[in-house]
Parts: sequence; C-alpha cells; structure tokens
Amino acid sequence: KKKLLEIKDLAIHYITVDGVVKAVQDMYLEINEGETLGLVGETGAGKTTTALGIMQLVPDPPGKIISGEVIFEGSNLIGKTQGELRRIRGNEISMIFQDPMTSLNPVMTVGEQIAEVIRLHQNLSTQEALNKANEMLLKVGIPAERAKEYPHQFSGGMRQRVVIAIALACNPKLLIADEPTTALDVTIQAQVLELMKKLKTELNTSMIMITHDLGIVAEVCDKVAIMYAGNVIEYTDKVQLFTSPKHPYTVGLFNSIPDIESDMDRLKPIKGLMPDPTNLPSGCPFHPRCDKAMPICSQRVPKNTEVAPGHFVKCLLYEEGVEK
Ligand code: SF4
Repeated sequence: KKKLLEIKDLAIHYITVDGVVKAVQDMYLEINEGETLGLVGETGAGKTTTALGIMQLVPDPPGKIISGEVIFEGSNLIGKTQGELRRIRGNEISMIFQDPMTSLNPVMTVGEQIAEVIRLHQNLSTQEALNKANEMLLKVGIPAERAKEYPHQFSGGMRQRVVIAIALACNPKLLIADEPTTALDVTIQAQVLELMKKLKTELNTSMIMITHDLGIVAEVCDKVAIMYAGNVIEYTDKVQLFTSPKHPYTVGLFNSIPDIESDMDRLKPIKGLMPDPTNLPSGCPFHPRCDKAMPICSQRVPKNTEVAPGHFVKCLLYEEGVEK
C-alpha cells in the first residue's frame, strides 16, 4: 500500500500564562492509502492538537510547531504557504468536528453549503455544483428534496450527515474526524459510523478517527495510536493492540472496561488524574499512575521501542539496558 501521510518527530507546544504545555511530543505516525488510524486518549492527551498540526491550523500564538515534519503525499506541509495549504485543505484533507453546528452556516440551505464547497474547489457552474450537492446528499442518506432546508430543520444525526457530505464532496484523500459521533445518541452514533465506513471504502479515503471510545476503534480502525500526556505511548495495528496490549496505560484501558460487549464506550479512567499539562511528571509522564512503575521511571524518559514488527511502545519495561 502507498504511504499517504507520515508524521516524523512532531512536537507542538502552547505558551500559556501558567507555562509551556507540551501538547504533542516526539510523535511518529504513518497512514497508508485507504487505511483508518484511531487516535485514542483522554481529554487533554493531545489528540485534537495532533489533528490541527496535520492541518497546519495550530493557532499561533499561543501554539507553535517546535519540530518535525508532516509529510503528505511526499511533501512536508510544515512551511507551505497559506495559498498552498488552502488548496490542500478541503481538496485533499478534510476535517469533521464533534459538533456539526460549528461547521454549518445557519443562514444557508444545506444544498447551497455543499455546492459552495464544491464550487470553491472544483471548476463547476452553479447548476453543476448544485447537482453534485444533491448527489452527495443521497450518498449520505438524505433525500435530495431536503437540499432546500436549513441546518436547524435537521436532527443532530442528520446534520452530522450533512457535514460528512461537505467533507467528502471534493473526494479528499484524508479525512480527519474529531469525535464525530460523541454528541449523538447511541443508535444514531452507530448509523453515522456505519455510513462513514461505507463511504470511506467507496471513495478509498484514508481516515484519522479521533476518539476516546475503544468500541469505535474496534469497529472502524486498522491501526491505533494511544496517546497520553502528549505522547503516542503505543502504536500498532488494531488486532495486535486488542490481543496483546503492552503499555501499562493501554492494559489499564482494556481492564477498565467491565464488559467488552456492552460497555466499550465508557473508558473508566485508571487511578489518578491526567497530569497538569504545564507541569508534567519527570521521566515517564505516566509514572505516578502506573502500577508497574520502577524507581527509574521517574528519572528516565522512555524511548519509542519496537517490541514486535510495527508495534511501538514508550515504556521502560520494554527498553533494552534498563534494569527491571
Ligand atoms: Fe510504567 Fe515505567 Fe513503563 Fe512508565 S516507563 S509506563 S511508569 S513501567
């Protein structure tokens, strides 16, 4: 499979009055064409910052990309001009947010909104764009006659379908979905996920699914990156992660699901709280909460270690030369 996106050594900081927040550190990720990567973690782990870093939308200030490369189709997005980035966003990479209302214009009909995006990125007449908008609506399961309605006339699930239609209207190569179903109720959630899966396969789009929900990962992802305090602490393919999780935090996530079948959507957090992002613990940032912690864990920062082909873990238990 062809590599679509490669993140190398990415670090993103926010300069705040309370100090520097290292929102993303030492990040390496890869996505091939047609693949879905799950980006999993608690609130504040750095998932959304990663997405903004890929889109080159980190608000600067207070944010800053400190190091690294975001290589999309062979070229680094960091350092591209605003004009180049505008062409890439929407055309090649689109994003879906948790709350569909933030991305919809309340005073435009949904048909016009989809058509506008199409017109902006493709050389089509108004009528052609409107026709294509109707096609997109049908694709996401909305009858074309509803194109003349406004966002407030749609239910939450239907609105998210409209947002998906907009995001996919230009047939992007990569879709970044930031908790796209969190705001929806469970049955609607399942339908929207099913739709995303179907369209993704149909259009051969790669996807980054940002979620805190291991049930969604099980459902839609090929690979998974687990984030903790700005670090990807475990990264491998889904089957490997579900059958052989290695990092104590990941193991904790699985153990905290009381019943794999019925309660996958609730990540019961492991003992303790996420650390203060401006004052991360020394050494391994997970050490105050880790039930496997060793004396060295508060002193040494774990390196990314390949424990099996394509399976990476940041934990001193798996590093060579560390006394256990
Ligand atoms: Fe736990 Fe130490 Fe591994 Fe961190 S490095 S996860 S504290 S065992």
